[in-house]
Amino acid sequence: MLAFIGLGSNLENPKIQIENALKTLNKDDEIDVRSISSMYESKPLLDMPGPNYINAVCKIDTTLRAYDLLDVCQSIEDNQKRIREVKWGSRTIDLDILLYGQQVISSDRLSIPHPEMINRAFVMVPLHEIDKEINVPLLGPVKKLIGRINRLDVKKI
Ligand code: ADP
Ligand code: MG
Repeated sequence: MLAFIGLGSNLENPKIQIENALKTLNKDDEIDVRSISSMYESKPLLDMPGPNYINAVCKIDTTLRAYDLLDVCQSIEDNQKRIREVKWGSRTIDLDILLYGQQVISSDRLSIPHPEMINRAFVMVPLHEIDKEINVPLLGPVKKLIGRINRLDVKKI
């Protein structure tokens, strides 16, 4: 299955945090990282306090089921010592499953497509960078959705 994962960090050397998470993903026997976007810098959402974020998106090919992929993502977050404080608060690493094939999943633990993705420049700009033809189930082609995004919200680094 082809899937897309959004990575973000704003603490303790964010670029290294993202690189480490990508390395760990690729080491998993059931995950093959196919492509990685550039890194992008953005301000915290809703004027939350804290350092700027670095974000990237990767495309993977995986034999894992969606919930098992979420387990892998959460174990990477735990290993990189993410402390869960306030929602949307600062974090060493955040891994969100954006898309899992064309599946739609809606449960307490997992929502795919990720509900906020189409509103976020730090997701849509890197996603569009690595796959211009992908479709977001229920919402439409990335090529079209990118038109609603303010690219000035992110800076390619
Ligand atoms: P956020 O990413 O919105 O800042 P968290 O990373 O703290 O928030 O995630 C909170 C919960 O979101 C997780 O416990 C997870 O079960 C749930 N969740 C729902 N959908 C997804 C998804 N597509 N990818 C990752 N986590 C998800
Ligand atoms: Mg998350």
